[in-house]
Amino acid sequence: MPRRQLLLFPLPFQGHINPMFELAALLHSRSGCSGGGGGGGDGVDFSITILHTTTHPITSPMHPSYRYVSLAPVDDELSNSNCDRELPPIVEDVVLHIFHLNARFEASFRDRVAAMLEDAEEEPVACVIADAHWFAVHAAARRLGVPSVALRTGSAASFCSFMAYPLLMQKGYIPVKESELNEAVEEVPPMRVRDLPRVDQSDPVAVAELLAKVVAGVRNSSGLILNAAELMESAEVDKIRRELAHIQVFAIGPLHKFTPLAAQPNQLPPDRTCLAWLDAQPAASVLYVSFGSVASLPEKHFVETAFGLALSGRAFLWVVRPGSVRGPRGAAVETKLPEGFEETTRGRGRVVEWAPQQEVLRHRAVGAFWTHCGWNSTLEAISEGVPLICAPQFGDQMGNARYATRVWGIAAEVEGELWERGRIAAVIKAVMEGREGEEMRERARELKQKLSASVSRGGSSHAGAERLVEYLKSL
Ligand code: UDP
Repeated sequence: MPRRQLLLFPLPFQGHINPMFELAALLHSRSGCSGGGGGGGDGVDFSITILHTTTHPITSPMHPSYRYVSLAPVDDELSNSNCDRELPPIVEDVVLHIFHLNARFEASFRDRVAAMLEDAEEEPVACVIADAHWFAVHAAARRLGVPSVALRTGSAASFCSFMAYPLLMQKGYIPVKESELNEAVEEVPPMRVRDLPRVDQSDPVAVAELLAKVVAGVRNSSGLILNAAELMESAEVDKIRRELAHIQVFAIGPLHKFTPLAAQPNQLPPDRTCLAWLDAQPAASVLYVSFGSVASLPEKHFVETAFGLALSGRAFLWVVRPGSVRGPRGAAVETKLPEGFEETTRGRGRVVEWAPQQEVLRHRAVGAFWTHCGWNSTLEAISEGVPLICAPQFGDQMGNARYATRVWGIAAEVEGELWERGRIAAVIKAVMEGREGEEMRERARELKQKLSASVSRGGSSHAGAERLVEYLKSL
């Protein structure tokens, strides 16, 4: 059988690029062309082609055998959409940014793939695997007659909220009202109104429109890959399977546990000196603090974070990337540690611009992770048995925090309204020293073991991955 191409198209944000490359590594290892004997023994070879955009190029190509195809924007398409010509900065309006990407790259995706299909020199295209947020790409693939499979890089629960969004709007939960934040949303238990997906900087109608397009794109594709594990979200995965009974659903998380990447593409250079610093710390003594690749804190919260860390008396490793702090109108402001912070914490803290996060979380010195609850960060911590302090900011992060605290019992939360140094220090102590923290750690360890079993032979994510490979071979 001739070799066939899988066209992988990540959404160009770190939290979406990483799982797509982890998926690429998994598929490559299972293909006959990997040379790894990973399941391609019956002669089916896949090659991996990564699609990326000239506006957000993949600058650090990962695997020597992957091919990279760059797409240039076609701005004519913008006249047919509700987007103006400027690509809004992601930190200012992530929702509009995603609409823009879809509007700008739909035509270039279509034309490039159409050319590949016609070119006799090209390997045949088996399937497009695109991020679920590339809704226009899924539609374009369908029109070209190429099967498309969506990768949803968030939790199964978040996708359930996406599917329920129109009903939740109809019932008046959304737009969210300040007075109803703590009300239970019985359509998607155990979510409260405050846990539903939202983006404070974006128009709620635009958020609803985007989620509707994402869900419609998935419904019209051939399959959905979830970076989720059935053992953590079995009811939610079942619900998705029932609602999307006409397509294939593969729950194969945590993807990074299949074939860990030697490096992550496109990120800031990780400061690896922090690993040597961790080596010198006692077991479970360090709090790792990071709010991911996009979220920024209001200046006041940033200052309280610094002094909360100082007041806690605990050792910490804090990721402060450029753009971590935002001014009153949402734009990034200069990221400067507050005066007095470094003197107070000298000797017991490290501040870095970017950490090798997966290695940090695996390190025995790390006792807890104060996180914004991006789904990758959440899964990476749980995979290493590290309990969480949750500080969700936007999107699906509030829902992830709800599951971490309420369903898995491995986290405490620093609520936005209570973001104050005394409260922060108390939460850090409770998670790192208290009995409550010990119980969270115990539950996190149990989940770690179960997740490890789920990606091994006989586990549900392993079986899902095998099914995915079989499915791709069958196309
Ligand atoms: N990450 C990292 N070093 C850092 C901060 C983040 O390697 O200092 C990685 C992290 O391991 C994760 C990704 O960046 O894979 C962030 O994804 P997540 O979904 O947690 O959050 P997002 O950045 O999408 O908000």
